[in-house]
Amino acid sequence: MDGFHVNFPEVVCLGATFTLSGICYYLYKKSRKTLDTLDEAPHFPIDKNLKDILKVTPGACLQYAVIEGAVQPVGEPLSSHFQKESVGVLQKFMLKEHRLVWNSLTRSWTDSERIVHQRVNAVPFVLMGSNDTSVRVLCPLQASGFPMEITHEKFHQVNYGLSDIVGQYLSGEKLKGQLEIEEMLKVGTVLTGVGELTLETDGTLNLRPPSNGSQYFLSIADFDTLRGEQESTTVLWKVLAIVSAFAGAAVLFWIGRRYYCQLKTRWERERERREFERLLADAPRAPAPATGPEAPHDGAEEHIENACVICLSQPRNCILLDCGHVCCCHSCYQALPQHRCPICRQTISRVVPLYHV
Ligand SMILES: [Zn+2]
Ligand SMILES: [Zn+2]
Repeated sequence: MDGFHVNFPEVVCLGATFTLSGICYYLYKKSRKTLDTLDEAPHFPIDKNLKDILKVTPGACLQYAVIEGAVQPVGEPLSSHFQKESVGVLQKFMLKEHRLVWNSLTRSWTDSERIVHQRVNAVPFVLMGSNDTSVRVLCPLQASGFPMEITHEKFHQVNYGLSDIVGQYLSGEKLKGQLEIEEMLKVGTVLTGVGELTLETDGTLNLRPPSNGSQYFLSIADFDTLRGEQESTTVLWKVLAIVSAFAGAAVLFWIGRRYYCQLKTRWERERERREFERLLADAPRAPAPATGPEAPHDGAEEHIENACVICLSQPRNCILLDCGHVCCCHSCYQALPQHRCPICRQTISRVVPLYHV
C-alpha cells in the first residue's frame, strides 16, 4: 500500500456507514428477539382458572404472558382538570413552547418545540376479567408505547406589538405560543398487557416488567396489532441495516477501485521503464551524453546544453513521440503528471531512447 492514501472524507463515509449498519443490525436483532418472545408468549383470559394455573406453575410465576382486561382503579380515580366527566388512573400534563427560529442556511423560519413543564399522576389500577378476577398492573410507566388518550389540547398564541416584532427579527427567534396537553388512561379502557404474571401469597395476581429483561407492553390495541407494530419495526431496522451495509460496501469498492487505478498506473510506468532500458541495451551504441565519445568530464558546457529541461542534471535521453521533442531524461518523463510533452503540450503516445551515432 506504499504511497496509497485513503482520504479523510472516505474514512468518514466508511466509518459512518459501517457504524450505522452495526447500530441498525443491533436494533434489528433486539427487535427480532422481542417479536420471537411475543410469538412464544402464552395468552390467558383473566378468570379464576388463571389463579389455578399459576398455583401449579413453579414459583407461581409466568415469565412472559399476554392478558387482556378493562382498566379499574384500586382506590379513588383521577379526574381530568378540563373534562369533569373524564376519570382515569394515569394522567399526564404537558406544556410545550413553540418557537420559530431563523435558519441562516436555508434562509427560512423553522419550527422548534420544547417541553417547558411535564407532570404525571398515577393511581394503582387493575385489569378486570370475568368472575371478578383482576390482575394488578405494576410499574405501568415502564411499559413501552404506553397508551393515553388526549383529554385536552389548547394552543395559547402570543400577540406582539411592533417593537417585539422588530426585536424578533433582530434576534432571529420568535415565540409562537404554548401548547397545553392533558392525556389520560381512562377507567374502562381495555388494555392488552404483556409481562411477568405472578400470584402473590395473599392471592393477588400481578402483572409487572419481566425480570428476564424482555420488553414490557401495555397497549390499547389488541395483541395482533401490537405484534404487527413490532414486526414493522423489525422490518424497518433490517432494511436500514442492509441499505447502510450496501452504502459501506460501495464506499469500500470506490476506495478499492481508486487503489487499483493507482497500482495500474505504477505497473504501466514500470513496464515502460523496463522497455526503455531494454531498448537502450539493444542500441548499437550507448547514449552519447553520458558515455559517448564526447567525454563527460571535459564537457561541462556541453553537458548543460544537453541537460534535461526539467531536472537540469541528467542528459536528455528520450524522444517523445509523436511530436519528436528531445527535451528530458527518462526519469523526468516518468514523473510527468500528465502524458503531455513539456514543450508543446501534445499527448505523448510513445517514448524511444535517443542514440548518438
Ligand atoms: Zn530530467
Ligand atoms: Zn513536443
